Amino acid sequence: MKNRFFTTLLIMFLGSFSLVGNASESKPYLITVIGAPGTGPMTMALQISKKYAIPVITPASLVQEFLHDESSIGQEVRETILNQEVLEDTLLFRLFSEYVEKESLELGLIIEGFPQTLLQAHAMHEALKAQFSILCFHLDVADKALIERGVQRLVCSSCGYVTQLVRPEDELVQKCPQCQYALKQREADRQKELQKQLLEFHTRVDPILTFFEEEGYLHTIDGNKYVGEHFTPCVIRDMSQVIEAKKKERSHLPFSSFLDKLSL
Ligand SMILES: [Zn+2]
Repeated sequence: MKNRFFTTLLIMFLGSFSLVGNASESKPYLITVIGAPGTGPMTMALQISKKYAIPVITPASLVQEFLHDESSIGQEVRETILNQEVLEDTLLFRLFSEYVEKESLELGLIIEGFPQTLLQAHAMHEALKAQFSILCFHLDVADKALIERGVQRLVCSSCGYVTQLVRPEDELVQKCPQCQYALKQREADRQKELQKQLLEFHTRVDPILTFFEEEGYLHTIDGNKYVGEHFTPCVIRDMSQVIEAKKKERSHLPFSSFLDKLSL
């Protein structure tokens, strides 16, 4: 009940912003990439960003962007950080709309690490669907495969180098090729920890995916087909195909809207 009241308030609040763009069909894209721990949503977001020259923002990068801002919103951000308070969704959306207003986003924008909750997904849909074409990519890999890959991961505790464990005895002998430190399995990669993370992920994120699917925003990328070094390039290829198809749809719009009128 309290949540519903808050959502209504948030939506009313967000609705009062005028963001760039209009309700025409050539709206900029708002792309979000959702994937369980181990699927690398941020890696994919960065590669798509580079390929299509679309900026990537995260809630943390938005905070950084306004941390030294002299405006009142910058002051609010500093106070939140100083008091070690949680960044409220309403402030986050205000940062977002300020950012959108000052940047030229012809093609669009990638937002990573958001939405984190169903409440945020509803607010994003209500506030931004008129200004943006929302695209949500879901990197779908079965939990079993993620756990298998996760427990085989070796990380250098010095420089962060990551590789896969090929044989069990490798953990004892492998040294980091970059800095010669010993490679270790991270605690987070242990099976129980991974299972816990995946359970938390599904509880929080599955309702968001269901909602985005109902709204027609969801594009599921089947990552089960791709393993090892092929995973990232193949996922990027599949995501690009969706984006290219969307762009093509757009280029045919004048004709299709003409057909729409004819059928009336
Ligand atoms: Zn290293």
